[in-house]
Amino acid sequence: MINRDQIESLMSYRNEEHPVVSMYITTELPKKFRSKLNSMIRGKLKELSQTSRYSGNEKKNLEKLLMRMEEVLKTRTNRYEGTKMIALFANTTGLWEEFELPVQYPNQVRIETDPYTRPLTAARDQFARFCILIGNSHKAKVYALTANQLSEEQDIFTEEEMEGATDEALQGFGEQRLQRNIRDHMNKHAKKIAEAAFQVFNNGRFDYLLVASPNDRELRLLKDNLHSYLQRHLIGEFKARPEEKKEEILTRARGAASEWEQSQESKLLEFIESEQYEGGQATVDVGPTIKALMNGQVHTLVVQESFSRPGYQCSNDHYLDLAKKNCPHCGEELQPVEDVIDEMVEETLRQNGEVHYLQYYPEKLDEKGVAARLRFVI
Ligand SMILES: [Zn+2]
Repeated sequence: MINRDQIESLMSYRNEEHPVVSMYITTELPKKFRSKLNSMIRGKLKELSQTSRYSGNEKKNLEKLLMRMEEVLKTRTNRYEGTKMIALFANTTGLWEEFELPVQYPNQVRIETDPYTRPLTAARDQFARFCILIGNSHKAKVYALTANQLSEEQDIFTEEEMEGATDEALQGFGEQRLQRNIRDHMNKHAKKIAEAAFQVFNNGRFDYLLVASPNDRELRLLKDNLHSYLQRHLIGEFKARPEEKKEEILTRARGAASEWEQSQESKLLEFIESEQYEGGQATVDVGPTIKALMNGQVHTLVVQESFSRPGYQCSNDHYLDLAKKNCPHCGEELQPVEDVIDEMVEETLRQNGEVHYLQYYPEKLDEKGVAARLRFVI
């Protein structure tokens, strides 16, 4: 689950005396997961035993902490459906923050004075936060949908407030007048819901809005009453009643959200396809994309999740290449890396670029593996 407040408080954490261990590990395939975890921890323990950066006591405690992290991770099960990676941050004075991420970034363990949060914030940015407003003519409810999980339900208008007013409307009017009265009432009610929704949307730092109602008429009424700012952020709608079960709402909300995400991914791929010529604003395939990345041109790196390829890098300068040669910056020989795609993801995040893992059309990058939308053309 991507909790924005939790990420923000972690980002401002810093401890000079007791460094933070930041760990990212993919959770797919239990067997592979355990051996990968084990080799990562062993590697870090070895590195730790050779460093003189920390005091003997701190080193001992860090060793214990690493082993505890391994123990906890080895036996835990994912809390959320769709979790592909766990990010864990801990230190020797009790810091312990876990996140389940619906996307895979390169596996790694780091020990630094600050938590290494770049992949975490990238996940937060890739997974939009949707505000779901469900309203009928009596009441409305708001849910938050992030990374396919529904949370934070909130009532913004109650049935009780409506009842008295309806009784009043029924007293001594002709049929036509009564109908008009009910209509006025519904309009007033929809307006109130829309006003409250505007507050909730802004306070909850939502990215997009989904609207749901039991029928077309009520949906229309609600949509027409929305503040134009909310209308611009409205990206989907579906049929639902505010009192329906959370699970049913979740299924439909996910459907509407993923329909929109799919169309966004499709647009990104269309852009890349139309711009992938010499001098265009996109690259496809590992070679040209590495070159663009080394020039700082990558705006969004697009990756087929399962793709990997070996390559070379200079760890001094973050220089990457598919061929073994000398680093053009420091002249040292490039070192082989198991998966250069992982390094490209890291480098893109380091340059404050975005990383998009294909979720709906992975076959579009078959054999190519990566593509990029560029910030500028050289
Ligand atoms: Zn170098």
